[in-house]
Amino acid sequence: LADHLLKVDDNGGRRRKIAILTSGGDAPGMNAAVRGVVRAAIARGCDAYAVHEGYQGLVDGGHMIKKMGWDDVQGYLSTGGTVIGTARCKAFRERPGRLQAAKNMVKEGIDALIVCGGDGSLTGADLFRSEWPSLLKELVSAGELTKEEADNFSHLNIVGLVGSIDNDMSSTDITIGAVTCLHRICESIDSISSTASSHSRAFVVEVMGRHCGWLALMAGIATGADFIFIPERPPSGEDWQDNMCAEIKRHRDLGKRKTIVIVCEGAIDSNLKPITSKDMMDLLTDRLHLDTRMTILGHVQRGGTPCVFDRNLATMQGVEAVEAVLDSRPDIPSPMIGMNENKITRTDLMKAVALTGEVAKAIARKDFIGAMDLRDPAFNQQYEQFMATTLANSEEGDKKESLRIGIINVGAPAGGMNAAVRAAVRYARNRGHIPFGIQNGFPGLIAGQVKEMKWMDVDGWIAHGGSELGTNRDQPSLDLGMVSYQLQKFNIQSLLLIGGFEAYTACLEMYNARNVYPAFCMPMVHIPATISNNVPGTEFSLGCDTSLNAIMESCDAIKQSATASRKRVFVVEVHGGKSGFLAVMSGLAVGATSVYIPEEGINLERLQKDVNHLCQRYAEDAEGKSQGRVIIRSEAASKTYSTDIVSAIIKEEGHQQFDSRTAILGHIQQGNSPSPLDRVRAMRLAICSIDFIEEHACAGSSASSTASHVSTGPAVYNKDPESIAVAGIQGSNVSFTSVEGLLKDTDLKNRKPAQTWWMDYKRTGNLLAHRFDLLK
Ligand code: ATP
Repeated sequence: LADHLLKVDDNGGRRRKIAILTSGGDAPGMNAAVRGVVRAAIARGCDAYAVHEGYQGLVDGGHMIKKMGWDDVQGYLSTGGTVIGTARCKAFRERPGRLQAAKNMVKEGIDALIVCGGDGSLTGADLFRSEWPSLLKELVSAGELTKEEADNFSHLNIVGLVGSIDNDMSSTDITIGAVTCLHRICESIDSISSTASSHSRAFVVEVMGRHCGWLALMAGIATGADFIFIPERPPSGEDWQDNMCAEIKRHRDLGKRKTIVIVCEGAIDSNLKPITSKDMMDLLTDRLHLDTRMTILGHVQRGGTPCVFDRNLATMQGVEAVEAVLDSRPDIPSPMIGMNENKITRTDLMKAVALTGEVAKAIARKDFIGAMDLRDPAFNQQYEQFMATTLANSEEGDKKESLRIGIINVGAPAGGMNAAVRAAVRYARNRGHIPFGIQNGFPGLIAGQVKEMKWMDVDGWIAHGGSELGTNRDQPSLDLGMVSYQLQKFNIQSLLLIGGFEAYTACLEMYNARNVYPAFCMPMVHIPATISNNVPGTEFSLGCDTSLNAIMESCDAIKQSATASRKRVFVVEVHGGKSGFLAVMSGLAVGATSVYIPEEGINLERLQKDVNHLCQRYAEDAEGKSQGRVIIRSEAASKTYSTDIVSAIIKEEGHQQFDSRTAILGHIQQGNSPSPLDRVRAMRLAICSIDFIEEHACAGSSASSTASHVSTGPAVYNKDPESIAVAGIQGSNVSFTSVEGLLKDTDLKNRKPAQTWWMDYKRTGNLLAHRFDLLK
């Protein structure tokens, strides 16, 4: 990416004109996409245009197609909806409308159109491109365009960006706006949950998704709902209502005080009959006599400032869309920019649109397995996982083959730790195992603070921040003998460690001590949970998304204050230890002017560049409208150039032009309630980890079962290095890598992975903050 970013486009000597429009329903993050496109286009030597009001702007032309300057997209990152407007345009659906749009584009000299919208908008875009030659021909024969004009624009470059809160587009794992929408839904359901618990009520919550149950499924997972109804997977059996009522009653008997049912607006039964929120409310009221309320979330879901994920996704995709325009040739099909396996990708727009239509067709012919398979690979698995942690097996625990699984938190608190414990406890119990909560980390284990955990013990934990079990950074080496003794005493046969880099080193300590302490010869899994995202073997740790959103919210407020007081530069210090992940990702999301990270350090030359840049930018700001600016400094970026010193230098060198303040965010960065992504990741990692433990406990018992400490359940004695592993998120998969195998990928001294995957985000941040000086 870096090689391309500053290469000026050579379009045969003619400056290329790239236009962007947003179409269909608005989606949070669309503005970040517009900002990314506008600035990347300008940086690459093209002219950028915004078409207002979606396709209507193309049809109307004139002042609806506006040239955009670098500063025209200032403030776009944090703004919800779409500033350039969107519309559902009837005229564009008909050929005369598209003829008019083609004429306007040629008259304006637009070479390429980037469309950000849902499947409808992208279908329209694809049709427009396929008709383009015939549209031009017709316009020439009607005398609306000259032949020369038409010849200059014989090929239409179209690039699709998927802006849709439903996440309903095929060929991409996620669409712009879906995660923010999930934030809004979770905030609402968390609020509903507390009132439901207070009054022991049932709530039926309707969420958006006409043909796609992604929002309902993810919201169900993230809020611990009792039931979800989605179009792709109708409830099975004619007697599903009876089964549902029986389950709810059983959960109520277990002590549950609330019942949350999420209904996707397109939910259907297996005969394709709609399942409505009202139907559900009547069912719960009439059959179970529950005090039931209904909440239709409606447009609340679309609103508000985009979350970090959407800002960064849209920004990266916007920049990639410009690259795709510059790479386009008549023989290459129009691309759609997606995200697959945590990488920004280009796929065939036409194929993606066609594949999306297949889901609706599969549902219409009642091929629900086919419909689920057409969704991204994680969707199916997550549905099963939701079910596996939601319905309590009637015969939970205490089976012959049951394992006694210790669960411990290690390191600083991180969002999602409790959600992971909850999922592990419930899934383990449903599989017949006996989970034990080890309180207060290794000191707690040494002191024998170990307690069996039941289904209801973790009720409500999903939305709790911090660590309900209690956590600290102490290592087993505090007293390896006592750790081993207590594990034997409680007959713990496998260990689930949920925590940060300290949990990784704790695993290493126990692995290295296996020859001395046989109690450590059992399966252990480390689920990375740290805001710093510095554990090897995973692209994301639990808590980092929550933290990024907490940093983003603070920075948005700081930037607002800085802008209000004019001419102020805030140096914001963020956590992360020796990893610059938090600084880079938050810097991109808030449009930081500069980001200092430990991987690069800070020196005088860099400070000089930053001061020069600030002087130039403040000189360019419109009179009386100087912007507030933010610099993000990772806490360990430099020992010498502390946050205070950097700020003092900026203030001194800014003379009267600008001043500087500091903001050290500190523990606020741990966030409050975990973000939806952290909750969803927590469930996935916890369930896969219990599966891993089962697999390795069995492998151990058949290979060797000489451990004297095992008195009940399967004999577990596994010395295989592969039996102590880190559970990681790699692309869209969960992977397990042995702690020993990860050593080569680990910088133990600096407590982080040896390689980073997020440096392209840093370079893009520099590009869009006009820091061309840092890219050279
Ligand atoms: P959302 O997912 O929010 O509904 P969408 O992009 O699918 O977004 P639509 O209303 O289906 O929303 O489409 C937006 C606009 O795209 C339409 O108003 C129309 O102008 C254009 N469009 C949609 N489908 C077509 C089509 N088949 N041919 C031409 N234009 C189309």
